[in-house]
Amino acid sequence: MYRAMHGRWGERRWWPSRAGAETPEGKLEICVGTILTQNTNWRNVETAIANLLAAGKMTVGRLHRARPETLAKLIRPAGYFNVKARRLQSFIARVHTGFGGDIAAFLDRPLATLRPALLGVNGIGPETADSICLYAAGLATFVVDAYTRRIFLRHGLITPASADYKSIKRLCETHLPAEVALYNDYHAQLVETGKHYCKPTARCDGCPLASFPHDPRA
Ligand code: SF4
Repeated sequence: MYRAMHGRWGERRWWPSRAGAETPEGKLEICVGTILTQNTNWRNVETAIANLLAAGKMTVGRLHRARPETLAKLIRPAGYFNVKARRLQSFIARVHTGFGGDIAAFLDRPLATLRPALLGVNGIGPETADSICLYAAGLATFVVDAYTRRIFLRHGLITPASADYKSIKRLCETHLPAEVALYNDYHAQLVETGKHYCKPTARCDGCPLASFPHDPRA
């Protein structure tokens, strides 16, 4: 299935950030993007990130010092802006107080310690934590989202009873080699396929996964 999607969409080169994931600026932008993208589409997140950049707020220190209402106004396009401003500042506070504002140092930890640390931040759930670990920290952890769940369900890889985050993640990690580049691109391929074809009402005609057994009503 991965090869079929990759053949259609090509290498997706995620996470879509302006600065590279190896730079501190890029790492911060990815972390901010993962928090803002909860319950909204990427285009809205891009506008919110552009606002933060234009206002000169995209540093750990400035995000930490920003007044919550100022931050909320800047990230308004991403929706749920008051909640997201609080989540963003909870995350930034950990980087600021525990690691002197050094985002690279904050992320430079094994998965076994970074993931629980992220899950301990108010408003960061498994999908956001795994996205930060995979895309900003370069650690091999599979990211599961609504598209993954829907595509796997419709293709009989999971059942409604095994459609929880942990089970889907375990399924992927036990059947795929633990490679950062593969996990990175696999998730991006699923998102692309979900966005274009596997919508709430499936459009299987022309979908790169149409040749695999599936039930579009599942
Ligand atoms: S649109 Fe159809 S073929 Fe494509 S992933 Fe969804 S169920 Fe499968």
